[in-house]
Amino acid sequence: MDLVVATKNKKKLEEIKDILKDLDLKISSLADYPAAPRIIENGKTFRENAVKKAVKIAKFTQRLTMGEDSGLCVDALGGRPGVYSSRFAGKGKSDQQNNLKLLKMLEGLPYHKRKAHYSCAVALADKDGLVGVVEGNCSGIIGFDFKGNFGFGYDPLFVIPEYKKTFAQLGARIKHKMSHRFRALQKARKALATYLK
Ligand code: IMP
Repeated sequence: MDLVVATKNKKKLEEIKDILKDLDLKISSLADYPAAPRIIENGKTFRENAVKKAVKIAKFTQRLTMGEDSGLCVDALGGRPGVYSSRFAGKGKSDQQNNLKLLKMLEGLPYHKRKAHYSCAVALADKDGLVGVVEGNCSGIIGFDFKGNFGFGYDPLFVIPEYKKTFAQLGARIKHKMSHRFRALQKARKALATYLK
């Protein structure tokens, strides 16, 4: 079955494909639909943005479409950067620049005050509109420096306390069994299964 993932983020797409690799899905993305309408991510929540991506792109492609919106919420920053995670240091800035800004804002804070979580909303829509939306979270600690090369975004700073390692050190095998994206996609499987029947 065809599934369009409404993203241009190659790393995110790779992760979604890996997490759902056991399902009989032919996954495409916005890279395969250059004429697709541009999505303005102006929602106040991950949920709102995920729904917007799914519904708008499903209408365009006329295929089952997944919208995914995710980000990092840091307790000491009142939940920021949240929906602004990809542009925390400004529009067009790199992951490295976002991470450096985060480290600077947390400078001097001890380990126990560096709690954070990743959040992910996954929406499914078909040509007739929204099918459903689910969410997943993953808790961690913002480390004091960069560690590891796997993953993307804030992964080199995101420490999983039980492993005392960042997602960027742990790699896909562990990340994709416990991440916010994995947890949201586990919930989305039920809806996907009804389409696969
Ligand atoms: P979106 O494309 O607007 O959903 O932006 C998601 C942003 O949140 C990314 O650019 C990253 O900065 C951050 N993010 C979301 N998920 C992850 C993850 O699994 N690892 C690291 N950073 C993430």
